[in-house]
Amino acid sequence: MVDKLVNSEANARRIAMVEGCFGSSGHPLGIPGRVLVGEGVLTKMCRKKPKARQFFLFNDTLVYGNIVISKKKYNKQHIIPLEEIKLQPLEDDGPYRNGWLICTASKSFAVYAATATEKAEWIAHINKCVEDLLRKSGKKPLGEHAAVWVPDAEANVCMHCNKSQFNVLNRRHHCRKCGAVVCGPCSNKKFLLPVQSAKPLRVCLTCHDVLTKSKNLGGPNVSLSKYKISVIPFLTVLNIGFFSNQDGDLSMDSSGEDDEDDDDDPENLSSSNEAKFYGEIQK
Ligand SMILES: [Zn+2]
Ligand SMILES: [Zn+2]
Repeated sequence: MVDKLVNSEANARRIAMVEGCFGSSGHPLGIPGRVLVGEGVLTKMCRKKPKARQFFLFNDTLVYGNIVISKKKYNKQHIIPLEEIKLQPLEDDGPYRNGWLICTASKSFAVYAATATEKAEWIAHINKCVEDLLRKSGKKPLGEHAAVWVPDAEANVCMHCNKSQFNVLNRRHHCRKCGAVVCGPCSNKKFLLPVQSAKPLRVCLTCHDVLTKSKNLGGPNVSLSKYKISVIPFLTVLNIGFFSNQDGDLSMDSSGEDDEDDDDDPENLSSSNEAKFYGEIQK
C-alpha cells in the first residue's frame, strides 16, 4: 500500500537513487509525501521510431528519461503531473503489443510494455495513483488532451490529400488537432487550441473546417476518424474518439521540431528490465 511507504527508509533510498541516476540533468525528486510506486523500461513511440525509455511512477508524477547506462544513468528528464494524465489501452497490432496511450493536455504518446502482465500492472498502478490524487485534490480528470502524433514513417504521402509525396524538399508537418502527417498546403492554416497553446497552431484543412464549424455552433470536440481508420496501424485504440491535440510552437513547423527526447539510444537494453512496483494496489 502506497501510504505505508511514505515515510519509509526504503522509499527515500529509492527516490535518492533515481535522483542520482539523472544527476544534474534532472530536477530534485525527493519532496515530502512523495512515494516511488514503480519503475521500469517502456518503449515509447517517438516521432522517428519506437525507443526504450526509463519510466518512474510516483504517487503524484510520472517521470521518464533516456537511458544512458541501464539502471545507472538517465538524462532528458520529463515530468508529467499525474492529475493531467489519462490512459487509453491500445489493441495489439503486429509488432506493436502491450501498448497504451499516455494522454495529457500538451502532449500525448503511445508506450509499449514487454508483456501483457506488465501492461496491466502499469495501467492499474497509474490509474490508482491518478484516482487517489484527484480524490484528494477534488480536481476534475483531464478533459481535452493533445493528439497523438502519427510517426513520420507511417506516412509517405500526405494523409489529407493522399497525393503529396514526402521527401527532403517536401517535408512532413503534423496537425496539432488530430496528429496526422500532412503536407504544407494541406496544413497552411492555424487555429487557436487553448488547451495546448495561447497561440494558434498548425492544423490540417479537415480539422480547420471542423473546428471552424464547431466553433460557430459552439459544438463539441472533434475527432478524426477519417485518418485513423486507414492509415494508422500503430494506433488501434480500444475505444474510439481519442484524437485531439499536440504541442507545438507557432514559429516552427513540425518538420523542424523533433521530440526533445528523440535521440538514439546509446546502448542496447539487457533482458533484466522487468518493471517493479513497490506498493500493492488496494481495491
Ligand atoms: Zn496534402
Ligand atoms: Zn487534423
